[in-house]
Order: sequence, then structure tokens, then C-alpha cells
Amino acid sequence: MSFFEQNWETMPQDQLRELQFKKFKMQARHVYGSPFFKKRFDEAGFHPDDLRAWEDIKKVPFTYKTDLRDNYPTGLLSGKWDDVVRIHMTSGTTGVPTPMVYTKNDLDVWRRCMARNFIAGGLQKGDVVQQAHGLGLFTGGFGFHYGLEHVGAKVIPTGAGGSDRQLRLMQEWGTTVFTGTPSYAAYMAEFALERGIDPVKDLKLRLGFHGGEPCSDELRERIDNRLGYRAHGGGMRRCYGLTEMGGPISMDCEAVTGIHIWADHYLVEVLDPETLDDVVPGKPGELVMSNLSFEAMPILRYRTGDKVVVSFDTCACGRTHPRITGFVGRVDDMILVSGTNIFPSQVEYVLLKHPELSENWRLIVGEEKGLHTLKAEIEPAAGAQIDERFVANLEKELHSNLEKKCAVEIKPVGTLPRFEGKAVRVVDQRN
Ligand SMILES: [Zn+2]
Repeated sequence: MSFFEQNWETMPQDQLRELQFKKFKMQARHVYGSPFFKKRFDEAGFHPDDLRAWEDIKKVPFTYKTDLRDNYPTGLLSGKWDDVVRIHMTSGTTGVPTPMVYTKNDLDVWRRCMARNFIAGGLQKGDVVQQAHGLGLFTGGFGFHYGLEHVGAKVIPTGAGGSDRQLRLMQEWGTTVFTGTPSYAAYMAEFALERGIDPVKDLKLRLGFHGGEPCSDELRERIDNRLGYRAHGGGMRRCYGLTEMGGPISMDCEAVTGIHIWADHYLVEVLDPETLDDVVPGKPGELVMSNLSFEAMPILRYRTGDKVVVSFDTCACGRTHPRITGFVGRVDDMILVSGTNIFPSQVEYVLLKHPELSENWRLIVGEEKGLHTLKAEIEPAAGAQIDERFVANLEKELHSNLEKKCAVEIKPVGTLPRFEGKAVRVVDQRN
């Protein structure tokens, strides 16, 4: 088992907690210098000097996604504008973008977090990496790129898409590591096979670092097998991150027992969204994160809206930092169907358990006589025969998992859309 910064990664938990509190206090004082946080803190009757013991962290007011959007572009800046060297933001397809700006030191922290993740996931100096997360305004591509270089891997910055070229480069350069969204990884496996290239026999892919969207265990399992990661002695690692915390920052390690979040840079709380109390360890709750190290735009107590299970126990790999061990769903992805909350990941979980079905599916949300309807459209796996009984059983299974009726329609192979970036799984046809 290798480490990038072993002393930090295996720091005893009591020392980590002490360090976190010290850094949290400094960060609270730092952000209090910005008009936004001064107003927010003052209104809540909180002053950074009130942070005397760990429990006082709970007195610090939350920050929300709307705060970053409402104060776009630089309203949440706490550092000096002169020190900013990079600007990223979400695509803002649903409205105003969510911005994040970085100083040189911020980029260094980010790069080192990613380097830790890659080494923890099994990356070695000498690996040839095709980096297929989008390079652009989105944080993913650059976060991956600089972290990979920092480890000493050979990076081919393809960005997303161009599957013909991706496949050719994999053969020409003997690519050992592939990155990009899980949907794109699944598509690449299908694309290669269609062109007569079997990734297990004809390619050398050993590791996949895939993020940008939730990925069920079932999908990870399929990618592991189809792209040959497992056959070549490695595996797929999931990645989690968010623009508000700087971008992609956490990943699975080789033990694959959860996604590590670096506690010396990020404070993790898991709260009951109703009572705002800490949940009992092992129970799902809303992930609330504080950035302890950034200078330019650090956010404290950010309500991510993501429903997760976190383990604070030391991992089998020896790292002492918390891990996301269960991902229930992103609130942004949640759909309200006649009063029932549905996460697309729940649908994927049921569908991909069946080897007769492919990874190409989508969920149609419709409306009939004022009632909301659900229909899962999915293509069969190559060569699979699907009869009416199978469909009827699948509908029953979806009903019991979603607590909502969901029709199933088997579509001919090749008729549903494929994705090179984030997949769009939900088509909402309601008025
Ligand atoms: Zn681990």
C-alpha cells in the first residue's frame, strides 16, 4: 500500500480533530473579513471568537448553494482578488452558474488532495492516463489533470468525447488508466466491442477513476469487468466532489470501502436535515462540508444536499480520514412523483442487477389525468432474450423498491442516447 503524504493520511484521529478545530477557527476569522460572511454571522449572533470548544462549530450559520448563485460572481470572496489565478464554475444550465475561484495555494491543496486519491486508488508513476473528464469551466478535468501530473503519471488530456480517437489512443499508447464519467466508461466498453476490440484482451486498462455523477455498485461492477480493469489487476474507483468545495476532491482507495475525504482540508458533518443534529454513525444524513484550507473562496458549513452514509472508522488501507460508504442520492437529482421522492440511482440499482439488461436506460416521467407516471426504458444486453414475464417481474421489483408504479419498456439495441459526459437519465414530460 503506497501513500502520497503518509503522515497526513494516517494521522491519529484525535490529532486530526485538534487540527480541524484549529483550522476551522482560523477559517472562521478569515471569512469574517468578507462582507457576505460578516453579515451572515452577525445576523445569526455569531462571532468567530465564540469558537471555544468543538461543539461551538454548530453555532456557525450554514452556507447554501443559493448564496453562491445570488452573490455571483465574487460576493463570497474572502481572499484578495489580486491573488486569484484560476476561475471555474458550473455550467449553469439551470440558471446562474455556481462559481469557485482559487489562489496559487488553493490550487496546490487541490492538486495534493487529488494526488493522494490517485495513489490511494493504486495509480503508479509510469501509468499512461487518458483523462476524459471535460476540460473547461467545469472543475473536473483540471482537478484530475494536475493531480495526475503531480503523481508523475503520463497524462493524455483528451477531454470528453471523440470515442474513435479515444480507442485509437488506448491502443497506440498502451493506456493503463482511463477517467471520465461512469456513463462514458460504460459507453466506451460498448463502443470498443462494436469495433471488434475486446478491452479485456486487446487493451491494457488497469484503473478507472470515474466521477461527475452518482454510480451504483452494479454499474461499477459492470465497468470493472467490461473495460478489463479487474482482469488487469486493478479496478474502478469512484470520485466525489463539488464545485463549492473546489471540485473533485475524494475517491475510493484500493480497498474500495468508501470514498475518502481528507479531514485535514475538509470538515465533514452528517446531519439529520430536519433536526440538524448529527446522525447516529452509519445512518444516512445530509453531508455538510467546510473547506479548512482554501484562501480565496472557502465555504463553511456548506449544505451539499447530498444524502450519504459516512464512516469515521480507520480504513483497511490505514488511512484515518472519513469515508462516504453509502450514497443515497443528490438532492438535485431527486424527482418528486405524486408526493414520492425518487432518486434515479434507485432505478439504476434495480435495473442493473439483471445481466439481461444493458447500462443504457432512461426514466420518463409523464402525466396522465393529473397523475404522475413513471416509465423505465432500457435496452437489453447483447444477445439477451427478454419475454413478457421478465418485464412483469421487473415492474414488480421496481414498484417495491420505489414505492411507486413504474412501467418498463424494452427498446431495441442502439436506440437510446449515449453520453460522453454526465448522463441525462430523466426525461420529465410533465407540464
Ligand atoms: Zn482506504
